[in-house]
Parts: sequence; structure tokens; C-alpha cells
Amino acid sequence: MSSLPNNGLENSTEYTLNPLDPEEFRRQGHMIIDFLADYYRDIEKYPVRSQVEPGYLQKRLPDSAPSNPEPIQTILQDVETHIIPGITHWQSPNFFAYFPSNVSVAGFVGEMLTSGFNVVGFNWLSSPAATELESIVMDWLGKILKLPNSFLSSGNGGGVIQGSTCDAILCTLTASRHRMLDKIGRNNIGKLVVYGSDQTHSAFQKAAQIAGIHSNNFRPIATSRSTAFGLSPDSLRSAILADLEAGLVPFFLCATVGTTSSTAVDPIGPLCDVAKEFGIWVHVDAAYAGSACICPEFRHFIDGVENADSFSLNAHKWFLTALDCCCLWVKDPSALIKALSTNPEYLRNKATETNKVIDYKDWQIALSRRFRAMKLWLVLRSYGVTGLRNFLRSHVKMAKHFEGLVGMDKRFEIVVPRTFSMVCFRLLLLPVMRVHANGEQLNDEERANELNWRFLESMNSSGRLYMSHGVVGGVYMIRFAVGATLTEERHVNMAWKVVQEHADIVLGA
Ligand code: PLP
Repeated sequence: MSSLPNNGLENSTEYTLNPLDPEEFRRQGHMIIDFLADYYRDIEKYPVRSQVEPGYLQKRLPDSAPSNPEPIQTILQDVETHIIPGITHWQSPNFFAYFPSNVSVAGFVGEMLTSGFNVVGFNWLSSPAATELESIVMDWLGKILKLPNSFLSSGNGGGVIQGSTCDAILCTLTASRHRMLDKIGRNNIGKLVVYGSDQTHSAFQKAAQIAGIHSNNFRPIATSRSTAFGLSPDSLRSAILADLEAGLVPFFLCATVGTTSSTAVDPIGPLCDVAKEFGIWVHVDAAYAGSACICPEFRHFIDGVENADSFSLNAHKWFLTALDCCCLWVKDPSALIKALSTNPEYLRNKATETNKVIDYKDWQIALSRRFRAMKLWLVLRSYGVTGLRNFLRSHVKMAKHFEGLVGMDKRFEIVVPRTFSMVCFRLLLLPVMRVHANGEQLNDEERANELNWRFLESMNSSGRLYMSHGVVGGVYMIRFAVGATLTEERHVNMAWKVVQEHADIVLGA
């Protein structure tokens, strides 16, 4: 109890805490920073993927909340003992799964300021700095990406920070749906059709479901190895024409730069050309790979974005900015506002009525919003464009190195060529494995998939690293995504050792 203010009163029925006592805040804040600094210093000692069984925590924690206050030391001890075992260490240098969600000192410090101020910036008046900083940093980042002026608030467009790509897609889909229904009448919602590819992230499907698009009118257009799993403009055109022929109304395309399974890139320019012929809103989802486009050598992957209507990337993936920070730019903010704004009396104010300010509540789903721009501002200022480019390039270089190692070992194949900092590879079947064992029904492809599933599980269960999988064209492959802030070449070399050791195990060498 010594950590609590009002010492000596804790047994009194009149006992009250000051839950925001500045000195207590200082004391506990320092303690947490020390705790996290030690965590980062020692992070490699933990198994990367949590090894607990479902329900582990229920067995360890009490059934109900404490009646009396507990000291921070006790709580932190429980974090160490009970919570950390159930954490998958995304910031471990040996984390190569999914896409990164990397962070930095600047990202954390920015997040601390955001949480520390805890303002609720729904409109300009509710915290002018939160709104204005958001417009400024989104213009900064837009300029670094060489987005056309039409996407910037200094042009006629603007940027907004959303919580996730799913939010960004839902908001843009809703804006374009609203625009289209204004034209064709609200009762025709059942005719609206949306397009993506079979590689588009499931966030798109979720957004379409929420936006009331009939499930029959969700078009995940098939991709193939011949287009490196990118969406073919000809296939898009054929799908649109067939829908028009059937009396349906095409209105939205979600194109991707850097798909989740294999980092495939949809050809933005040619897709926009097709979509624009039919008045379709194009959203470009560059959740992971958009960050790389700040480097001149990667910028060509978003060529053509000038003809899209909206563009988003997750700074909380591969841009050193803590969750959550999805950067969305739109050319026509009024489309968002028409679809998403409400104006309750209690929020009426002079600034809004001048029409000279942005009220970001009208650019997103929720009313309340965090001051997320702070962390992006800190990241951009603390590392500068040069530092950020070097950081991204170091990951690409390490992925290339790993790709080279895989390429030299005949037991493996690279399934799709690497584009950014992710290598997609798999273990090949040994000739002996192709001989059908008695009673076994699997064909070679299924055997290879099953082998790689076991191979991946074997590696991840070791706790020494964590990778995840994807399936493209029916092929199960292992994704090695470099992007954790602490990863160095020695970690990649160690990962390669783990890969080789476990290949020996599953191949029975
Ligand atoms: N789009 C792509 C290409 C992704 O890779 C991801 C997540 O990995 C998402 C969308 C979903 O992002 P969020 O979790 O921010 O909705």
C-alpha cells in the first residue's frame, strides 16, 4: 500500500484516491518505462510465439476484481508472471510473421503524449492542435510519397488518420456508395457491385458486408501466377461489362499494392483507366507496402495513384509508428462528409460554422478520436525522410539476403519473386515422398502443403522465431517478413539456421 497516495487512510470508509496525482503519475510512469526498457533489453529471452494453451489465463487470475486498491509493484509482478507468457513478441528481432507492426522510441513517446493528454478530438474546437497537426502531418507524408496535390489538404483533398485499413476501406466505400445512391436512388442498393481480387485483404469483404453490399455482388476477381497474382485490368473490364449487362451497378474497386499473402502489386494506373471509364471509385490499399514507396526506387509501384480516389497505408505496420495509425488520403473529402456527418446540437460551434476548419468526426466512423497525429509527427521529425528510407531499405536488404540463402539450397523453392521485404518460400517434396504410401489419398500438391504446414509448426513451436503462412494458387508457402525494428542481419542468419535444422527434422534427415 505504500505506493498509494493518502497513506494511512486505506482502511477508512472515507478513503478516496486521487487517481491523477502528478507525483504518483511520475513515480509509476518511471517504473513502467524501466519495466519496458528492461523488456526490450531482454526481449530475445522469450519464445517469440506465445506457447500457452487456450484458457491459460483463466486458470491463473482471480474470478473477480479486487475490492481494495493494489500497489503497482504487485500488478507489474503479475504482468511479468502471467501476462508475458501469453504475449507473442511482435517486437522481437526474431518475429517474421504476418506483416510487421514495428515501433520506435519516437513512436512510443508520441503514443505516450497522446495517451497523456487524452484529448478527444472529434471536431476542431475539441482540440484544435489535434486536428491541425493531423492535416499537417498527412500533407507531409503525402508529399514524401509524392502523392499529387489533389490528395493534400493544401490542394482540394486531404488526409485523415484512421484506426485501421478496415475503417479506411469502409469509410471510402460508404462515401462512394452514398454518391452512387444519390444518382440511382436508395432503393437500388441491391444492384451495387464492388471489385477486388482474390488476393485483396478480407478487410474489404468485411467493409462490403457492413456497407450492405449484397454478398452476390462482391467480386473477388481471380488472379494467377501469370500476372504474379496482381489483378488484371482485362479481367476487371470483363467483370464490369458482365455486371452491366446483368443490369447491376459497378461502383467501387479496391486495388492493392502489396497483398497480404505474397505482396503482389495490382497495376494501379491501368486499373484506374478501366475503372474511370465506368465512373468507379478506386481505393488503393497499400497497408504494408505503401511505406516503401517513400523510397524513390519503390515509388513506381503506386504510379497511377493520381487517378485513384483514395489511398491508404498503415504507418503502424512498417513505419515505426505504434498501433494504431492508418493514413488515408482522399481527393474529395466532401464525399466522406456527405456520407458520414451528423450535426447534433451539443457539438454546434462557431468554428464549424465558418466552414474553415476540419471536423474529423465527419471523416470516420466513430465520433471520439485519439490524437494519433502526435506519434506520426514524432516519427517523421525524429528519423527524418533519410532515416526512414534507410530503415526500410535495411529490411529489404535483409530479406534479399535471406532469399539468396533459400535460393542456394536445393531443398527449397521461392514460390513468388520477392518485391519488398518478404520472402515466400517452401520446402520441396523429396522424390521418395512422391511415392504413394499404401492407402494415402493425397496428391503431390497436397503432400507438399501438408509437409510445409508441419515444417512451419515445427519451427514456430521452437519459440526461436515466428513466421506465418499464405496460400497462393493452391500452394501453401511460408512467409518470411522482415520488418521488426530490432532485426539485424545476425537474426536473419539465425533464422536461416532454424529453417535448415527444422527442414532436416521434417524431412527425416
Ligand atoms: N490490407 C492489407 C494489404 C493488409 O496486409 C492488412 C493487414 O495485414 C490489412 C489490409 C488490414 O489492416 P487493418 O488491420 O489495419 O484493418
